[in-house]
Amino acid sequence: MAEKRDYYEVLGVDKGASKDDIKKAYRKMAMKYHPDRNPGDKEAEEKFKEAAEAYEVLSDDQKRQRYDQFGFAGMQGGAGGAGGFNMDIEDIFSNFGDIFGGFGFGGGFGRGASSHGGRRVVKGSNLRVKVKLTLKEIAEGAEKKIKVKKYCACSACQGTGAEGGKGGTETCPTCHGSGVITQVRNTMLGQMRTQSPCPTCEGTGQVIKNKCRHCGGTGIVQGEEVITINIPAGVTDGMSMTVQGKGNAAKNGGINGDLYVVFEEEPDPVLTREDNNLVYKLNISVPDAILGTTAEIPTISGKVKFKIEPGTQPGSILRLKGKGLPTYGEYGKGDLLVLVNVWIPNSKNLSRSDIKIIEDMQKSEGFGAKQADSTSKSSSIFDRLFGKD
Ligand SMILES: [Zn+2]
Ligand SMILES: [Zn+2]
Repeated sequence: MAEKRDYYEVLGVDKGASKDDIKKAYRKMAMKYHPDRNPGDKEAEEKFKEAAEAYEVLSDDQKRQRYDQFGFAGMQGGAGGAGGFNMDIEDIFSNFGDIFGGFGFGGGFGRGASSHGGRRVVKGSNLRVKVKLTLKEIAEGAEKKIKVKKYCACSACQGTGAEGGKGGTETCPTCHGSGVITQVRNTMLGQMRTQSPCPTCEGTGQVIKNKCRHCGGTGIVQGEEVITINIPAGVTDGMSMTVQGKGNAAKNGGINGDLYVVFEEEPDPVLTREDNNLVYKLNISVPDAILGTTAEIPTISGKVKFKIEPGTQPGSILRLKGKGLPTYGEYGKGDLLVLVNVWIPNSKNLSRSDIKIIEDMQKSEGFGAKQADSTSKSSSIFDRLFGKD
């Protein structure tokens, strides 16, 4: 494909163009290069798609701002998210509603159907499922098997809807197999050739001679499928991926819809996630804080022993390098931050002899508190955890 042209150039508007100007410019382009007006003209089709892509970006304030700032580089989305422009004609048609209001190109190309040289190929609807992931699964990536309830192709007729499978259909008498009915209409834009799907065969060009008894002629039955998905490491809550062709089966042997898998992070009982870092809150005893100790820290890959230096203050943050999470599509891992708290018992819960020890400590000068140094740069815990440091 040739080098991408600037979106403003594509629509022939200047950088400061208003939303209205952009809409008008796009409408003009779309009418000029519309496939109905340029049947079989590949160049017109490319121009039509190019204009749709430019409009998709420039009509959306957020996307436009990103484009103005970063150019095409700003348009690449994250994993499975928005972004990537693989728009096909079908998507463009489904966006037409708001551009052409009611008076546009005669209906015909509904959502969920695509037009290939006239004959309509029915597409099954897309499905969306949520998958829960533990921090360990996020850290390491996971293979998940999920059971999806959906429409599946009828096995008795191989999805054709015709008794006995293929060969049980005949050419539609209304449209003679083309799947469309063409009408010429006078509209305020001039004479317009419009195509709509044939009502007899719903655009498939074929009608069924004898309907399959198992599925009633639809070619689909309610069922379920176990789908294996490989989830990459480092995904985040709310991120999604598309598994093509794993949505609902379409009527009468059309194209399967897609399955959108949305990730949901399960809260961990001990570790908290902050971006690609993990935070663990560790309580140590007063003597351990004074004398130092070795603490056991839970990590994603099991417990590790960690040295606590003598004189560790409550609120100290210790860092286990590389024990955090990976970030999807990037190298390296975050850290595990150990937030140290010194556990102070309440004297009500102490025995007489314990209290005696504490009273001795209280009398001893060595245990006196050192006052905080006002020039110390220690700021909020959050700043220290996630600040420059
Ligand atoms: Zn027909
Ligand atoms: Zn069937």
